[in-house]
Amino acid sequence: MEPISKLQEELKEYALTLGADIVGFCAFENAPSAYAPTLRHALSIGVKLSDAVLATIDNAPSFVYFQHYRTANALLDQIAFRLARRIEEYGFSALPIAASQSLGKENPYRGAVPHKTVAVKAGLGFVGKSGLFLSEKYGGKVRLATVLTDLPVESELPLLENGCGDCTACKNACPAGAIFGEKPTVDGERNFDPEKCSKYMKEHFQDIGRGSVCGICIKVCPKNKLR
Ligand code: SF4
Ligand code: SF4
Repeated sequence: MEPISKLQEELKEYALTLGADIVGFCAFENAPSAYAPTLRHALSIGVKLSDAVLATIDNAPSFVYFQHYRTANALLDQIAFRLARRIEEYGFSALPIAASQSLGKENPYRGAVPHKTVAVKAGLGFVGKSGLFLSEKYGGKVRLATVLTDLPVESELPLLENGCGDCTACKNACPAGAIFGEKPTVDGERNFDPEKCSKYMKEHFQDIGRGSVCGICIKVCPKNKLR
């Protein structure tokens, strides 16, 4: 078998070929998901959202954004699926975690693993006051997915500190009052009320689509304009 570092490099190249825009690796002391208690290592992948699509959000969500969001999720799911297959071909286990996932009525706002936590640990960015993951390269204009594995990949990048400073643009702009404006912890703990966010969407924009896809907190974030 090839050295792990070579397999890690191959996986990164493969993910980029499949359409990922950012790729990172990390290791956890304990398995991050109860669904896979032996898988302590992870790949974090992200795809960038279109600037032109984000420009269609103007104090309200748009159909164009909703469809784009779903397409980005579908692409991520494909990439995670294929990466998991490739890792199995190497002789290891791998669990792809879908970009948008709910664990049913008991835990409707969480997936099998928090993608943001994985991406932060992989050194790809930090969690902003909005609760959004802000990537070093694209700010909040990314969607994420994860592959858990027992292939012993390791982080190549240092952890990034929260860079929101005194900004409260997302808190001020959120039409649902779902963002608290406090600094979240670096491990990706949520700092907004996902239920408020989702309820607002359902009450005001049911015709557009299910769930929290307003996107205003992404659009107003100055971390996006820097790039
Ligand atoms: S998606 Fe919209 S409603 Fe939800 S937190 Fe962001 S700005 Fe607020
Ligand atoms: S809008 Fe400002 S406070 Fe909110 S996540 Fe972006 S940088 Fe942080």
